[in-house]
Amino acid sequence: EVILEVKNLGKTYKTAKGEVTALKDVNFKTHRREFVCIIGPSGCGKSTLARILAGLESHTSGEVLVDGKPVNGPGRDRGMVFQGYTLFPWLSVRRNVMFGLEMNGSLREEAAREADLWLELVGLEKFANAYPHELSGGMKQRVAIARALVNQPRVLLMDEPFGALDAQSRAKMQQHLLEIWRNVDITIVFITHDLDEAIFLADRILVLKAHPGEVQELIEVPVPRP
Ligand code: ADP
Ligand code: ADP
Repeated sequence: EVILEVKNLGKTYKTAKGEVTALKDVNFKTHRREFVCIIGPSGCGKSTLARILAGLESHTSGEVLVDGKPVNGPGRDRGMVFQGYTLFPWLSVRRNVMFGLEMNGSLREEAAREADLWLELVGLEKFANAYPHELSGGMKQRVAIARALVNQPRVLLMDEPFGALDAQSRAKMQQHLLEIWRNVDITIVFITHDLDEAIFLADRILVLKAHPGEVQELIEVPVPRP
């Protein structure tokens, strides 16, 4: 079952110095419950791709389909956890997770109950009334994952989500994310520049190759397993 389909996707930025082609003819599909990592060197267009998939940025050619429907802007069908997409510091952990639900018109009590279920899934139910500054970096990203999942999206988009964590916390979060993924019916598209991280996490690894000015290939490489 295909969940996400990217067809001949292209993105050209217009800048004062002229046009910059960040993505050109990018094609891939992801299936239900897959964990796909997209890797590539700095400047190859990973963040641009993440923002387009999230609907935060427009593309200049091609299309993005979720469940066969074209994506135009952000939607409940996609949850996101980005390195810089932080929690609201003035809201409690529970209210941060409830935020997405209330935006969609859920009742306060119902949203709170649902938020607590997702906090339990990420192991932070005891911290529902805490505020973001009281949590470690890893715990904050666990709250961000709960917030991303609360609307039960089809795809979870993650762009360098653990990039700001120290090595030990990052390793713990990778383990934790795999546990969450096994318990939730979700397709994960995880963008990283770290090959070791991709090998640890992914079912499939797609490499975005930088070819300035040329067709930008997205090549699937086998996941090495010991
Ligand atoms: P990565 O995340 O892989 O480092 P980016 O998506 O950030 O790559 O950038 C891809 C290319 O697009 C780079 O050449 C970058 O300079 C350019 N680019 C990214 N964002 C913008 C922007 N807002 N305006 C102009 N050029 C941009
Ligand atoms: P990080 O992943 O950022 O390294 P840790 O998981 O090491 O964060 O947690 C940092 C601190 O928070 C530790 O003191 C840890 O005991 C505490 N902590 C983390 N998660 C929980 C939890 N679910 N319940 C109680 N304490 C926790």
